[in-house]
This record gives sequence, C-alpha cells and structure tokens, in this order.
Amino acid sequence: MDDGAPDRKLILDSVRDYIAQLVEEGLEGVPKSPGTAPIAAAAAIPPASSRVAEPAGNGAVTPSPRGAGSPSSGEAKAPAAMLKASAPLELLSRYPGLEKTGDLGALRAFIGECQRCKLAPLRKNLVFGVGNPNAGLMFVGEAPGADEDVQGEPFVGRAGQLLTDIIERGMGLRRADVYICNVIKCRPPENRNPEPDEVAACEPFLIRQIDLVRPRAIVGLGTFAVQSLLKVKTPISRLRGIWHEVHGVQMMPTFHPAYLLRNPSEKRRVWEDIQQVMKLLGIAPPGRGGRSP
Ligand code: SF4
Repeated sequence: MDDGAPDRKLILDSVRDYIAQLVEEGLEGVPKSPGTAPIAAAAAIPPASSRVAEPAGNGAVTPSPRGAGSPSSGEAKAPAAMLKASAPLELLSRYPGLEKTGDLGALRAFIGECQRCKLAPLRKNLVFGVGNPNAGLMFVGEAPGADEDVQGEPFVGRAGQLLTDIIERGMGLRRADVYICNVIKCRPPENRNPEPDEVAACEPFLIRQIDLVRPRAIVGLGTFAVQSLLKVKTPISRLRGIWHEVHGVQMMPTFHPAYLLRNPSEKRRVWEDIQQVMKLLGIAPPGRGGRSP
C-alpha cells in the first residue's frame, strides 16, 4: 500500500528550500495568524542529506595547483546539469581597451580610481581581488562589506574567515592558492544589494578577471553573485549543488559565508557543493592520502 511518504518528502524538501531562500533574503519572521506555522518550526526540518561532514577540521586533503586534477579516471566528467550564461563579449566592449588588458595588473590599472558608477564617492577603497593570478579555482562574491572597504581586500571579515576555513581546512589549499573577488568592486552603502546600474557598470571588470585568471572552476557565493553571473532570478537554494557555465568556466553556486554565519546548519550543504568542486579539480577527498591538517 502506498503510504504517501515520497510525496511528503518532496513537499518537505520544497518547503525547506523555500524557507532557506526567504531567510537568506533577510526574512526573520512572519506575522502570526491562525493556521500559520511558526517559521522557526518549519526551518527546523532537517536537510535531505546528512551524509557529509562540516567543512572545518575534516582531515587530510591534497593541495591543487593550477592544472592539477585534470579529468581522468572518471573523476571529472562533464557535469550532468549545466546552465549557460550569455556570452559577455558585449560587456567587454562597454569599455574600449578593456579587452586588451593582458594581465591582472594591467586590468587594475585600467580600472584606476574608477568613477564609472555612483558607488565611487562612497568607498574607502576599491576592492579589486586577491590571490593567485593563475589559480585553478576562483571564488566570486557579491560586493565588499565594511571590513573589505577599509582593508581593500575581499572576504576579510568574519564571513571571510569562514571562507578561508573552507579553503584551507576543508579543501586543504592555501587562501593564496585561489583567486577571490566580487561582482562589484566598491561597497554599497549599508551593505545594501548592488543596483542594476552598478552591476552593469562593474561587471565587465569581473568578466575580464575571469578571462585573465581562466580558472578551471568558479564557486559563486550567495544569491546575488550567482544570479548576476547567470542572469537569472532563480533562488540560490535551487541553483546550488548544480554545475553551471559562466563564460566558458564551470561554476558551482553555493551559499554565501555570511549566510552560513547566520545558519550554521547549512554548512553541510556548502560542503556538499565544495566536495563537487574538489572532485572536478581532482583534489583528494579528506582521508585519501592528502596532507595532515
Ligand atoms: S563599483 Fe565598479 S564601476 Fe562602480 S565605481 Fe566601483 S569599480 Fe567603478
């Protein structure tokens, strides 16, 4: 006899994804009304998968320099599900000469003390990017926050420390092995979401960064970065865990570290996503001959 269990699981998974998305977008509660379940109770529905460990402190892994982990032995097959972002050539042509910048230094010089959007007079520092210019793995976030604005480096606050933990303790790489940047290079006031005209003004620089670093994989961090890269409005909870393509580079969306600070139970999902990235890049899973932490 069919007890309906699969349907219930599907419904619960859908509700969980929807609530996770609402919470990530800033929802902290809902008005209490008869027949409405408290959001905290609904959010307590356990994730579908609990097979994987947390990113921090999970043992030995192998560092992956650029070029390591070339597809072999069935480890790095083409992702089954991939959504293609539109070609960015028209973006590069927005700023004549941008496509001729030959390295990251030249690109940074091209950007200069940029005044191309209304965020310029509000910033303390333009936050360009940091890391290995030949990295095989690139992390792309949304925009600088307060700490990043002061220091001029992406992901240096609490969320940045968590990202560093994922890279170093989870993946066994050094932060300096990867490349880290944001869609937007200047801090939006009060950490609001970047506006469409700001994205339009700044995005060509990110596209050129991707061109110049030419990583084997990108990890898109959070709703805004992923939606900007893919030109979609699909919730991150439905995009994460699936390979997409951005300008010819495979991109794995996952939750933003700042979201993880508020929702630590979601670390397991991020770790699932990161494990897919490690597999693609040929980074040994923890406990399979990597170095000791
Ligand atoms: S956000 Fe981008 S386009 Fe706007 S001023 Fe900063 S660097 Fe220039």
